[in-house]
Amino acid sequence: MPTVSLNDYAHLAVSKSQNALVVAGHTTWQLAEAPHPTATQLMPAWERLHAAGIHNPPLNVVLIEHSPDLRFMATITPLITAIQGPARQAFLALLNQIGHDPRLQVHIYGKATDVAPPTFLRLVVALQLASCFWLRPDIIATVLDTHPQVEWSVDRAHYAQSGGIGGGCYVPGRHTIMLESSRSCEGFRTPTPSVSPLLHEMGHLLDATAQRLHGWRTPRGELPGMTTTQRTAWYHAKQHEVARYRRWCAQPDRVTDVPFGHPYVFQNDGEFVAGYWELFWRSPALMRTHAPLMYHVLCEYVQFDACRAQPVDYTGYFHDNQQTYATAQATWPSHMQWLNPD
Ligand SMILES: [Zn+2]
Repeated sequence: MPTVSLNDYAHLAVSKSQNALVVAGHTTWQLAEAPHPTATQLMPAWERLHAAGIHNPPLNVVLIEHSPDLRFMATITPLITAIQGPARQAFLALLNQIGHDPRLQVHIYGKATDVAPPTFLRLVVALQLASCFWLRPDIIATVLDTHPQVEWSVDRAHYAQSGGIGGGCYVPGRHTIMLESSRSCEGFRTPTPSVSPLLHEMGHLLDATAQRLHGWRTPRGELPGMTTTQRTAWYHAKQHEVARYRRWCAQPDRVTDVPFGHPYVFQNDGEFVAGYWELFWRSPALMRTHAPLMYHVLCEYVQFDACRAQPVDYTGYFHDNQQTYATAQATWPSHMQWLNPD
C-alpha cells in the first residue's frame, strides 16, 4: 500500500470519492509514520469533520481528529517541535487540562445529529490557548474563570442565523467567539501556519477579559494579566503605531514609515489588540523588525519569544499591509480612544 508521510502530505486536502479518502490522487494509502493508520481507518474522523462543516480538511486535521497525538498537532503548532523533554510533557498536560475544563464551552451550531461532533473543534481552541500562554498558566486560569465560549457554525446560513457577523466575531454579551467551522482549518493548509481567525477573535476575547478584571464599562484594547511595567510598555508601543498611522493619514503619498498593522486595525482599540495579537503569533520576525516595541512587550507578556513558536513567518499580511499603505487612496475612519494606561 502506498504510504504518505507527514512531512510531504500533512497540509494537503483529503477528499472523499466513491467511499475512499483521496489525498494527492491516492485512493488506497496509509500514513508512513506509526501507528500507520490507513485511509479506511481515518474515514470516521473525516466523516465527523465533514458533518460539522469542515469539508476536504487537510490531512493533519484528519489525523488529529483520529488521534490527538503531539506529532500530528505539531504540524499545525510548530511550538510543539520547538520544545522537548519535560517542557513538552508540561505542554501536553496543560493542553489536556484546558481541553477538559468545563468552564471552556465549545459548541457546534447546526451539526448533523446522527454523527458525533468532532473533537478537533474543541481541541483547536485549547491548543491555541495553550500555545499562547503555556508559560503563563495564571492567564489561562484567569481566562477560564470568565467561562469563555466558542461557537462553530456548520455553514454560512447557520452562522448568520445564530447572529454571526462578518467573517467571524466576538459577542461581548455572551462572551462568545463565533466562527464558521470551516475556518478552524484556515491557515493549516500550508507548512507555515497562516491566517488565523481564531487568534484574531481570541484577541477580542482577551480584551473583554481584561475589561472584566478591571471592572471597566467598555474594553480598552488591553490584554489581561499585564504587570504595571508591561501595561506602560504596551501603551508606549501602541502610541508609536498610532502615531505612524496618523502621520500616514496626514500625508499618505509621502510617509514611508508606516505601521505594521493594516489600516483596519486602527478603527478602534479592540481591532488594534486583536490585529496585533494575530500578527505577533503569525509574523513574529517581521514584527521584531518593523514594530520592535510591540514585539518586545508581547514577548515579555507571554514570557516567551514568539519566533520560537513560529520559526518561519507568514508574510501574507505584511505584504498586503505594505501594499495597502503604498497605494491606498483614502484613509479608514479611526476611533482609537485608549492611548494611555490610566
Ligand atoms: Zn476584529
